Amino acid sequence: EEQEKQHQEKFVITGRIARVIAHEVRNPLTNILLAVGQFKQEIPSEQEDAQLYLDIIERNCTRINQLVTEMLQSTRMMELHLHEMDANEMVHNALALAEDRLQLNEMRLEESYMEEDINLLVDAEKMSIALLNLFINAIEAMTPGQGVLRVNTMHENGKVYIRIGDNGIGIPEENKAKLFDPFFTNKTKGTGLGLTSTQNIILNHKGAITVESSPGEGTLFTIILPVV
Ligand code: ADP
Ligand code: MG
Repeated sequence: EEQEKQHQEKFVITGRIARVIAHEVRNPLTNILLAVGQFKQEIPSEQEDAQLYLDIIERNCTRINQLVTEMLQSTRMMELHLHEMDANEMVHNALALAEDRLQLNEMRLEESYMEEDINLLVDAEKMSIALLNLFINAIEAMTPGQGVLRVNTMHENGKVYIRIGDNGIGIPEENKAKLFDPFFTNKTKGTGLGLTSTQNIILNHKGAITVESSPGEGTLFTIILPVV
């Protein structure tokens, strides 16, 4: 409840900014991307310079577009399309989206699921974004060739617990309080919006998210969701 209160206060301004950005940035960007796509088709492919410049424009617009999408996900203005879904299936489906990255980095995946089929009332698309953000952070925190991602589900007292553990660099104590803040990142190419989005999505589902970490040993995120 405390988490929810702090969270609400934090997003009064961010939500309004995001609304403006959605219209004033995203729409023009979409138009630029469409125009560039058209232009690329009309310019002969021999004109390599021109094609190269258009690629640069396209790549950068796409990047800004992604950032805007993440910003919108990190606000409270979020419409949930709720459907019943099996908890294990939800987690397993989201993991499939991280499989390529795990393989590429030669990391091991250890899944262990509760035996019961427990239904949750969730927006499947949003929950998969929420989970994927945690999987990607875990992968980015681990050493290629040595990483082990542990994902586990459990059911107790009308709640489902989803645990996502890694053996990565861990989180220093002084950073724990800032983790979920918008734009908090220690990565050169990070947006600092992943955990903000994830927390927002979980709270909108009336759930909670907690973190435990030991620097040098690893990190464990726990998502707690109410059962329907
Ligand atoms: P980003 O990934 O763009 O940096 P996030 O909101 O996803 O933004 O994460 C914020 C910060 O929290 C990261 O930059 C990192 O410092 C820390 N963090 C998140 N997950 C982990 C993890 N599993 N292990 C270590 N640090 C983490
Ligand atoms: Mg992230």
